[in-house]
Order: sequence, then C-alpha cells, then structure tokens
Amino acid sequence: MQLMVVEDDDAVAAALVDAVQAAGHEACRVVRGTDALLQHQRAQLILLDLGLPDMDGLEVLRKLRQVTEVPIVILTARNDERSVVRGLRQGADDYLVKPIGLAVLLARIDAVARRSKAAAPDTGIVSVGDLQVDTGKREATQAGRELGLTAKEFDLLALLAQHAGSVVTREQILDSLWGDAFMAVSRSLDVHLTGLRAKLDRPGMIVNVRGVGYRIEAVIE
Ligand code: CA
Repeated sequence: MQLMVVEDDDAVAAALVDAVQAAGHEACRVVRGTDALLQHQRAQLILLDLGLPDMDGLEVLRKLRQVTEVPIVILTARNDERSVVRGLRQGADDYLVKPIGLAVLLARIDAVARRSKAAAPDTGIVSVGDLQVDTGKREATQAGRELGLTAKEFDLLALLAQHAGSVVTREQILDSLWGDAFMAVSRSLDVHLTGLRAKLDRPGMIVNVRGVGYRIEAVIE
C-alpha cells in the first residue's frame, strides 16, 4: 500500500516512514497541508497530523473529503474531545493520539485499509440509459455507437456516469481529471465538457447545476 505521511516534524515523520516501510508499505512524506491537497492522488491511505505549518489539519481533512474517499487516519498530539469529534465527523477513518506504539499504529492502519477495501465499488461497465461506459476498456458507446472520446472526455463521462443522478461538483471533477481541486483556471473543463456533449446523442443528458457542478441522467422519453 502507498501511504502519504503529512507531518511537519522531521523526526516523527522519519520514524513513521521507517515503520510503515518496515511493514512492507511504501511511504512518501509531505510537510504542508497544501502539499497533501495537491498530491493526495498518489496515496492509498493518508496519515494526517493536525498541527501543520500552513493550515490546520482539520481544514486539510475537510477539503480532502470534498474530493476523495481515500482512507485518512489522523495522528496528532491533540487529544481534546472536540478535535476528536470534529475529525471523525469530518470523515476521518480513525483518530490516533501521539505518542502511539508503532505496532498499534500499523494494526490500526491495516484495519482501516481492510474496511475501505471492502467498501470499494466495483469497476467495470456503467450504464446510464442507452449510454455504456466501460472503465476497463476505456470505451464509451451510446445505443451501440462508439463515441470516440478523447482521454479527458472519457474521464469526465466516466466520473459523471459513476455518480449518475447525483451532482458531481466542479472541485471533484478538477481533482479527478487534473489532480487539483482548487485549480485557479478551470476553463479547460468547460472545453472538454462542450466536446463531450457534442458527441452524445442528447447533449442535455449532462445537466449544469448552477454554481455547483454537473449531473448526468438518463433521459425519460
Ligand atoms: Ca505538527
């Protein structure tokens, strides 16, 4: 498993990285919250400190949860009840208080990883009305016709189709397609969206939810 250690204390970070590597995982370390937001896609599990130099770890958690379901384990010296409750309510998978024995830490990491694996959705073919999106073969067809999408158009369609009937926010799309949910210039999304709509039989399948994002839905005729 690929872990990301978000920790500003060099000695603590080194000990954590050593421990998870000794247990057979791969690990990278980042110091700042913004680095965690930009690089989280490299990680299958994130170990998150709360006291970070550029932003509070709970804010990092909140922003990550807007875009990803990756397991996040908080590891902090902060043990007041309020922080624990906020951390768990905001979507942390576990909340561990330093100092912690490495064997316990590794066992908790494994437990979180097992739970998230069990909950992971299947990949394969997603259907929305007469639209079929094969995420394995990276092929999209509508009423049997191959749509001939570009890579980004396909990624966009697959993301929307996997959440068919629900809104996918612009932040989720930017994060999934470009790895940066908070990209200042998001015009390229509009370009790919226009291209994708033009290739669908019914461009109106993709509904613009003003100020929030987009939703794909099967048209009821
Ligand atoms: Ca810290």
